[in-house]
Amino acid sequence: MNPILKVKDLHVSFHTYAGEVKALRGVNFELNEGETLAIVGESGSGKSVTTRSIMRILPPAKARITHGEILFEGKNLLELREKEMQLYRGSKISMVFQDPMSALNPTMTIGKQLTEGIRKHLNYSKFEAKLRAIEQMKQVGIANAETRFNQYPHQFSGGMRQRIMIAMALLCNPKILIADEPTTALDVTVQAQILDLMKKIQERQKTSIILITHDLGVVASMADRVVVMYGGMVVESGTVEEIFYEPKHPYTWGLLMSVPKLHMKKEKLYSIPGRPPDLLSPPSGCPFAPRCAYALDICGQKMPHPTKYSVTSMAACWLQDVKAAHAPYENLPKE
Ligand code: SF4
Ligand code: MG
Repeated sequence: MNPILKVKDLHVSFHTYAGEVKALRGVNFELNEGETLAIVGESGSGKSVTTRSIMRILPPAKARITHGEILFEGKNLLELREKEMQLYRGSKISMVFQDPMSALNPTMTIGKQLTEGIRKHLNYSKFEAKLRAIEQMKQVGIANAETRFNQYPHQFSGGMRQRIMIAMALLCNPKILIADEPTTALDVTVQAQILDLMKKIQERQKTSIILITHDLGVVASMADRVVVMYGGMVVESGTVEEIFYEPKHPYTWGLLMSVPKLHMKKEKLYSIPGRPPDLLSPPSGCPFAPRCAYALDICGQKMPHPTKYSVTSMAACWLQDVKAAHAPYENLPKE
């Protein structure tokens, strides 16, 4: 596997009136070429901050990347000047947001919005850009693309607008597509169509995808690997099989338990008790300790180290360390 993107020990802080919020505290993961990596976790766990750091679109007045590296094909994006970063954003790394309506300009035709990016990055003439945009609209399944090119965002349904956003993100053939809750605002049928479209595009263009979602059903159908975030950290990562069949971290257990099952009554749905940690003064030990049913004495005091359990599996949890330490005894022959 060839990593196209490496996020290394990323720390991000936000200035607020109350003090400095440590939104990311040492995030590490890699994205391999052509794979779909899902990032899961509750809101406030740092998923969006992570992807916005990669795109370098955090609010400059408030957010500060205090430490770390983001290596795209070996180049540290955090060292680029804004002008240089603009050559990457949109053309090499692109993003699709949750709410297409807020990302599209309501006063501009779809065609104008699509061609702007192409002309900026690819130096196309107006005519060439139009042809390219119409071709891309067709590829994302928009019928009558020639007519629709001249229409405004409000003339499109929610699903169609999200297709437009995907078309826009793909115009310059980016190597990486970041999709932040791309289907959350859509109904189930449309959601399935959009996910299907993303899969097809990935097969065709060999795009690597980072998919942020809170929906584990989407993870199961889309992802190759999963990163689980909690309290601004990666608490577990692994292949989709490892996460679903051999989860290591109690937080991941909780997430899996909160997935609605068929025929289950709504009121029976499990949700992890307690609240995410206050990142103004994050706990010194495991961030999940106050909510963890398995917490040991050490958990509240010392941060668990990330431990590898296979080539692809990692978790940071004292419970697993204790289990591993006892494993030799479990394997002794029975008398
Ligand atoms: Fe629970 Fe301790 Fe593991 Fe944290 S380190 S998840 S508190 S068992
Ligand atoms: Mg978010």
